[in-house]
Amino acid sequence: MKVGLRPNDDDSCGWYHILPAPAPTVPLTGEQRFDHVVLGAGFTGLAAARRLAEHLPEREVALVDAQRVGYGASGRNSGFIIDLPHNFSGADHAGALGRDRSEMRLNRFAIAALRDLVEKHGIDCQWSERGKYHAAVEDKGMRDLEGFRRALDRLGEPYRDLDAGGLSEALGTRYYREAIHTPGCVLVQPAALARGLGASLPENVRLFEDSPVVGIDYGDEITLECAQGTIRTKTLLLANNGFASAFGFERNRLIPIMTFGSLTPPLTEAEQAALGGEPDWGVIPADHFGTTLRYTRDRRLLIRNWITYAPEFRWSAQGLARIRRHHEDSFKARFPMLPEVAFGHTWGGVLTMSRNGAPCFGRLADNVFAAVCQNGVGLAKGTYSGTLLADLVVGAESDLLRDLLSYPRPARNVPQPFLGLGVRAKIAWDQMRAGRER
Ligand SMILES: Cc1cc2nc3c(=O)[nH]c(=O)nc-3n(C[C@H](O)[C@H](O)[C@H](O)COP(=O)(O)OP(=O)(O)OC[C@H]3O[C@@H](n4cnc5c(N)ncnc54)[C@H](O)[C@@H]3O)c2cc1C
Repeated sequence: MKVGLRPNDDDSCGWYHILPAPAPTVPLTGEQRFDHVVLGAGFTGLAAARRLAEHLPEREVALVDAQRVGYGASGRNSGFIIDLPHNFSGADHAGALGRDRSEMRLNRFAIAALRDLVEKHGIDCQWSERGKYHAAVEDKGMRDLEGFRRALDRLGEPYRDLDAGGLSEALGTRYYREAIHTPGCVLVQPAALARGLGASLPENVRLFEDSPVVGIDYGDEITLECAQGTIRTKTLLLANNGFASAFGFERNRLIPIMTFGSLTPPLTEAEQAALGGEPDWGVIPADHFGTTLRYTRDRRLLIRNWITYAPEFRWSAQGLARIRRHHEDSFKARFPMLPEVAFGHTWGGVLTMSRNGAPCFGRLADNVFAAVCQNGVGLAKGTYSGTLLADLVVGAESDLLRDLLSYPRPARNVPQPFLGLGVRAKIAWDQMRAGRER
């Protein structure tokens, strides 16, 4: 079967391009055979390959990606490794609270695992344990914030309330009316983290970058046809995000989305003084359709907003120029004290959602496993689900794995063209309602 839908990210991701160019790589060539192949070297695949290699030190594990490590969505995101559920269940019955707590356990397991690796391998990724602000400016955002506060109270999670004055002291900008700060989120330079994880894989992982899989044959042995070679395996682990649907799985259950980021060069000392506030911070919009903001340890400002339905997982150069103008408007509204600051980079990245917010995790066929569909928060989810997928493959049991296996499967979508029409209409409506949160 041909794999029609393949990664095609733009070449303008700021996080990636501010790093030194990576060393040259050798794509997969010739005929290769591995007991286990992990497809996709984002956070999910990096975690899966590492854990599998640790379980099976006497075997070689192949990790294959169409692009360089850090070039795909894992290097394009806003760099929040969240500890709290992104969407609380919203109810306070025991089942819902249990689900929220289980998600926090999984997220915190991922954060601890990443922290260990960053320390052990000295990964220079601006790791910053500063938590995150949930900020609101519109009435709807204020209501969303209230719901967030109630969820934190129910779970007994610590937080700090900030009014407009406290916020402008913390962030420099006077844009927001109110915020809640929670301490457990970690902020990173995502491309640097992904690259560091790729460079510190166990020796028995063979990493093949720039090796798009263009065809696949299933059987007792699976054959993956790459652009310049072939790879055969007994066990395939899909960690390739929404592209899994092109491999014949979860076709009518995943929702392909793109969202966009812009990053400035480092602020000059005079600009830093004009901004004021804390030395680095991250803001998540209380309304999910609002703007994510970062002020990084190397003094850059990031804007992330705008969401589109993107069934081909690609976006035109003109579309990107339009998004950049939206980002400029969002920037000017928040940082009038920085009139001379312009973005150095604007880029898009892919997300995969499901209607019920559920991940696709587990065994999909006798010799095919998957951890895809991280619903927009793949730093933590990708890390724990990749790790636990490797556990599942080798039969290692744990409470965390049992928790994850108990999650529902992604809900079935309505057929096309209704899916496209419905998702586009919902996004347009929610973005309009977000108002000045954008
Ligand atoms: C702008 C933006 C901001 C975001 N902000 C955050 C955030 O702050 N925090 C957070 O947790 N998440 C955030 N996300 C989401 C997060 O980036 C994703 O959830 C995460 O990258 C998913 O990781 P993954 O490893 O599952 O998939 P990916 O990172 O998409 O990795 C999948 C890999 O599979 C490869 N692949 C696919 N098909 C093939 C093929 N045919 N052959 C070979 N290789 C293939 C791709 O090249 C890719 O490298 C954001 C996303 C974007 C775009």
